Amino acid sequence: MNNIQSVLSDKTGTFELNEILKPGITRATMKGLVYGGPGIIELKNIPIPEILEPTDAVIKILKTTICGTDLGISHGKIPSVLPGTTLGHEGVGVVDEVGAAIRNFKKGDHVIISCITSCGTCEYCKKQMYSHCEDGGWILGNTINGTQAEYVRIPHADNSLYAIPAGADEEALVMLSDILPTGHEIGVINGCVKPGDTVAIVGAGPVGMAALLTAQFYSPAIIYMIDVDQNRLDLAKKFGATHTINSGKEDAVKKIMSETKDGVDVSIEAVGIPDTFDICQNIVRPGGHLANVGVHGKKVDLQIQKLWISNITITTGLVNTNTTPMLLKTVTSGKLEPAKLITHHFKLDAILEAYKVFGNASKENAMKVIIEP
Ligand SMILES: [Zn+2]
Ligand SMILES: [Zn+2]
Repeated sequence: MNNIQSVLSDKTGTFELNEILKPGITRATMKGLVYGGPGIIELKNIPIPEILEPTDAVIKILKTTICGTDLGISHGKIPSVLPGTTLGHEGVGVVDEVGAAIRNFKKGDHVIISCITSCGTCEYCKKQMYSHCEDGGWILGNTINGTQAEYVRIPHADNSLYAIPAGADEEALVMLSDILPTGHEIGVINGCVKPGDTVAIVGAGPVGMAALLTAQFYSPAIIYMIDVDQNRLDLAKKFGATHTINSGKEDAVKKIMSETKDGVDVSIEAVGIPDTFDICQNIVRPGGHLANVGVHGKKVDLQIQKLWISNITITTGLVNTNTTPMLLKTVTSGKLEPAKLITHHFKLDAILEAYKVFGNASKENAMKVIIEP
């Protein structure tokens, strides 16, 4: 085991890895970004994963990225992630090895890794609620080792990987692991965006931008993007926002209520803090939808006494990835261009630098960072 660097704190933690080598057995190693407890992430030499179940595949990572959720984990905000876990739940790669039961993939196939693992046979999977798969859900880079490494083991690989069509822009397809299906399913579909609607998206980060791009499938008339970062708002204009509001400089609720008849048809919360939820519940018009996408760490002040009488629908959710095959078609046809969300590239050796840049996204003008071996 070889500690290469430490970041996010001065602590140089040494900790046990999830997969402890049995005495006397030597296995080839690879580099992987390992969580060491709150404030500690390290690029370490760790064992290359092996097939454990016949439904597993081992994927050689070609490109991965960092999610806002990974930043939360690195700061210790997600208690299900234990020290010793390799982080990351997004990426594309090449199938290196498959278990005996795998039917859809073989060594050498290029694949998208879904952030959600699904067995395909449990009660939730049969309802297409893969996020709550009884033997899966969001486990990658959470309760099992993830994709910010040279290799990753994917359980239930037949249902949790998507074949990449020949000639596709593989870097763009990294956006299909998580942010595009999340913005689309939990923001746009749950929010019931319809032709002619006025939509407001609060939060112009990667998931808010994914909601902005995919909302346009349904031809809303007006899309407001609200954020405190002017650079991100300028980018949102290029990606199809018709109006932007810098909520650090002006009152977003007042502005929307003065510019619309009585608010927006759909408000999409893509930050995950009480203030942004509050904007969303104060701008939605009677009969409208508030779709919460943001990952909240604490309770919000729900104004139920105003919302109930306005026939407001509030939705929440963890992505199911059931629209990923559809989104893949829109990306390969060029209808959707998620590559424009990519702002930075790093080698895996420089992943700690990538975390710093992504963690200071506003200063660094960062949206999605691509990491490759
Ligand atoms: Zn994510
Ligand atoms: Zn299942």
